[in-house]
Amino acid sequence: MTRSKVHDFNAPSGWNAMLPPRRPNPPIAGTHRVKYAVVGAGYTGAAAARRLHELDPAGDIVLLDAGTVGEGSSGRNSGFTRPLEFPMELTRANAGRVGKIKPYYEEGFYWLKDIVERHAIECGLVRAGVIRGAATDLGESRIRTAGKVLDELGYEHQILTREEMNERVATRYYRCGLLVTDSYLLQPAALIRGLVDSLPKAIQVHERSMVRKLSRSGTWRLELDGAAVEADFVVLATNAYVKHFGYLVDRTVATYTYAGITEAMTPEDAARCGSMEHWGILPPHKMGTTCRRVGQNRLMVRSLASYEGELRPDVVKAGLTDIFRARWPHLAHVRLEHVWGGATAFTMNGAPWWGKFDEGLYSAGGCNGAGITKGTLLGKRLAELMTGSGEHGGLVEAIGEPSWIAPEPFRRIGYHVIARKERKMAGAER
Ligand SMILES: Cc1cc2nc3c(=O)[nH]c(=O)nc-3n(C[C@H](O)[C@H](O)[C@H](O)COP(=O)(O)OP(=O)(O)OC[C@H]3O[C@@H](n4cnc5c(N)ncnc54)[C@H](O)[C@@H]3O)c2cc1C
Repeated sequence: MTRSKVHDFNAPSGWNAMLPPRRPNPPIAGTHRVKYAVVGAGYTGAAAARRLHELDPAGDIVLLDAGTVGEGSSGRNSGFTRPLEFPMELTRANAGRVGKIKPYYEEGFYWLKDIVERHAIECGLVRAGVIRGAATDLGESRIRTAGKVLDELGYEHQILTREEMNERVATRYYRCGLLVTDSYLLQPAALIRGLVDSLPKAIQVHERSMVRKLSRSGTWRLELDGAAVEADFVVLATNAYVKHFGYLVDRTVATYTYAGITEAMTPEDAARCGSMEHWGILPPHKMGTTCRRVGQNRLMVRSLASYEGELRPDVVKAGLTDIFRARWPHLAHVRLEHVWGGATAFTMNGAPWWGKFDEGLYSAGGCNGAGITKGTLLGKRLAELMTGSGEHGGLVEAIGEPSWIAPEPFRRIGYHVIARKERKMAGAER
């Protein structure tokens, strides 16, 4: 296993590789004095920078990323999103939280959708049939419980039998599924490129610009290779890497998960991928596998997990290939063309962080597997908090805050013990 690194992953993002080349913004050089410095050009940082400019157009903003846009986790994910989020294990006991968070999710999702439409960002955003598919007893029981709760909450959905799933997504692997209609799929690297490239020109964007040190004496000072930035306000939108600045070390760990996209299939094979034009399958267990259709002639699988470092690429490719073939044995000859890993900031109780760390220093992150809408929402709201706009008590109550995680070496040992147990429990959902 290779160790946790800030921006250079073992393999390029397949999503980014499928797009035409993009010229990155130049690295920052020299000394700068700005009002706002936003560190991290993922969904959270891009949203914070955009909203800061909307609310304070006279305040100069610099947006810095250690890597290139599209190669961070915002360009490496599976591209599932929706205006409503509910936990993998939705029960009557936690149904209340779904209602509480709903208006905020809608705010984040529709703000994002509006940006995509206004700037004509070609990221394939499409309303799609997203199914939570169950391959085990446990999965089926979670899905049936969730279906009942969604009924009570009045959310449109449908329980699918094995045959109905087979007809739609061409696999008999799943014994049943929960189809949630109000769901969307998109090309994540195209989205984050579009979000950053459509920022107002007044925002200075610098890529390959890693902030190595953050200190404060009056103003904040950010030190980079061959450059420095003095800022009144700083946003740390670095997700899992917030710990590199000494924050949240007892609240979050970097976990990695992996995805693969097939080669372009022949028209004959592409015709054997189910009747739905756009579909995605989410697991009913956190160690489970996500799958989706990509355009008309490719499929994607996302699975496997590791702690604070990436698995070896050959191990990932072999694991994802087995997972793909188990679901689509009739496509076993189709190769995974792109295979890559990405980092998420895992928190013990699944709650993100959001708010003020210190005078002039703000941060949001920890959106686990739902950062497209949640990261956008939290970045937007962070900018509002910083500029004294809006009321945020309801948001804070709805999202909660990350719980304490034991220090090393207990943390690593605990992670592996829990992961082993969860993997066993997930069984065929993996
Ligand atoms: C394989 C995979 C599948 C996923 N699937 C989904 C999905 O289907 N739907 C969904 O909503 N979410 C999904 N996620 C999660 C989603 O990708 C994250 O929640 C999201 O990327 C978080 O956005 P962010 O902007 O907070 O952080 P990031 O996207 O991680 O961005 C942080 C940025 O900060 C930069 N940075 C870090 N340190 C520094 C520094 N010192 N100086 C300068 N820059 C720095 C990094 O280079 C990076 O670009 C998935 C994640 C993975 C890995």
